[in-house]
Amino acid sequence: MTKVVITTDRTMMTNHHGKEFIGFMTTAPPIFMPEWLWMRISAPKIRTDERGEPWQAPYGLRKIEAALLDAGIDAAVIDPDHLSKHIDKAKVLAIGHHDYFALGPPSSEWWVLTGREPVNAKSFRKLMERPEIKRAKRNGAKIIVGGPAAWQWLYKPDLMEKWGVDTVIDGEGERVIVEVVRKALSGEELPKFIQVGVEDVPSLQQIPLIKKASVNGLVEISRGCPRHCRFCSVTLRPLRHYTLDMIERELEVNRRAGLKGCILHSDDVLLYGSDGIYPKPDPIIKLHELAKKYFKDIGWSHFSLSAVKYAEENYRLMSRISDMLLEDDDYIGVEVGIETGSPDLAERIMPAKALPYKAREWPSVVIDAFSIMHDLRIVPAATLIVGIPGERPEDVTKSLELVDELRPYRSLIVPMYFVPMGLLMNKEWYRAQPTQEQMDLMKACLRHDLFWIDDLARWYLRKANPFLRLSISLFISLVKRAASRYLFI
Ligand code: SF4
Repeated sequence: MTKVVITTDRTMMTNHHGKEFIGFMTTAPPIFMPEWLWMRISAPKIRTDERGEPWQAPYGLRKIEAALLDAGIDAAVIDPDHLSKHIDKAKVLAIGHHDYFALGPPSSEWWVLTGREPVNAKSFRKLMERPEIKRAKRNGAKIIVGGPAAWQWLYKPDLMEKWGVDTVIDGEGERVIVEVVRKALSGEELPKFIQVGVEDVPSLQQIPLIKKASVNGLVEISRGCPRHCRFCSVTLRPLRHYTLDMIERELEVNRRAGLKGCILHSDDVLLYGSDGIYPKPDPIIKLHELAKKYFKDIGWSHFSLSAVKYAEENYRLMSRISDMLLEDDDYIGVEVGIETGSPDLAERIMPAKALPYKAREWPSVVIDAFSIMHDLRIVPAATLIVGIPGERPEDVTKSLELVDELRPYRSLIVPMYFVPMGLLMNKEWYRAQPTQEQMDLMKACLRHDLFWIDDLARWYLRKANPFLRLSISLFISLVKRAASRYLFI
C-alpha cells in the first residue's frame, strides 16, 4: 500500500490496444454505437499486477512517479479499478489528465457539434465520484491535480470544492510536486494553485527518468519549441534536449517491461539536438540509430512541416530516416500542424512556424512537406484551427483551398475549434455553430479523410486484433454512409 497514489481515469489509463491514434476516440462522445463499445475500442483496461500497478502508464504520470521515487517518497501509479487497495493508507492522490473536462481540442469541438459530452470528461467525472475517492477525502488525503489540462480547473472552482481538490499544479510539475507532496505528508497547508514559471521548470539535469513502462513505449526526447506560435501552450516552455544517454535509459525501461515498440516524443522531433529552427542531421541520425538498437517499431509524435521540407531539401534527412525505419510497403504516422492555409493569418498567429521560409509562403511549405512525406510513406495526421481570433471568412476559404490541394497526399486532416492557450490565453473560446465557410472547410476535411481512409485503415489495422479490425471497419462504413446521406460527400 502506497502513501502517494498517482492515478487517472480509464480514458487515460489504457494503451488503446497498442494503437496510439485510436486514443483520439476518447475525445468524442460515442458515435453510431453504445458507450460501452466505444470505450472498449478506445480505452480497454490495461493489465495490472496484484497491487494494481499497470504494466504501462501515461508518460506524464510516470514522470511524477519518478520524481517522487527519486526524492525517496513512497509513490506508485495505480489503475483506477484498484484504488480500494491503497486508499485507506493513501495520504495523497495525485491525478493527471490531458483533458479533464473536454474543454481542450478536439473534445470541445465534438461537444459543440454533437451536443453530447465526450467520453473523456464523463469518465473523469465517474472517477472523481467513486466511493474510494470520497473515502480517501474523509480519511484526510490531499488531492493534487496537474498535467497538460491543469488550466481547466480555473474554469471549474465549483468542482474543485465539490471533489475536494486541494492543489492544482499548472506547468511542468516534476520539481514542484516533490515539495507539495512533502508538505501534504507532513500535514502543512497547501497552496490552491501553482503556476510553474520559467524559473521553476526543471533543468535538463532535473528531469527525472521514468522507472516503469510508459504507454506504447513513449519516451520524451526534447521539451519546448522555438517557433512560439501565439495559440500554443508549448510556446511558454524553454527548449531542452535530452542527452542520448537519458533517452537510452528510458528505452531500456520500456524494453525490459516487454514493450515491442517506442514513440519518440517531442514538440518537433526533427529539431532534436538543434539550437534553433534548423534541423541538424547528425543528432537525428544518432537518435534513430539508438532507438533501432532497442525496437523494430518506432513512431514519432510531432514534426513541424517547415522542418520536414528543410531537412529533406538540404540533407535528404527524411529519406534517410524513413529508410532506417520503414520496410516493404509499410507506412509511419506523425502529427503535424497546418493550422491555417491563409498567409495573412499565418503571419499574424504563427510568424515563425514556416521558418526558415517566409510566413507568407506557408501554404506552399505545407504542400511541399506533404509531397515529401507522401513519397516516403510517412502519413501526417494534421490539425487545422477553426475560429481563431481575427479569422475572416477569406482566411477560412484559403484553408479550404489548401485542403483541396492536399488531396493527392496520403494523410488525415482534422479541423479543431480554437481553445484559448499560450499567448492567446485571455481570448474568447470558440463555441459557435460553424459559419458557412467553416462548414465547407469541415466538409472538405471529411472528404479528404474519407478519400484516404481505406488505404490508411488497411495499414493501421493490419496487425490489430480481430475485434478492433471489425469494429473500426464497421465504424468507417457507418461514417461513410452518414457522410453521403446527410452531407452529400
Ligand atoms: S510549431 Fe507547434 S509546438 Fe511549436 S509553437 Fe508552433 S504549434 Fe506549438
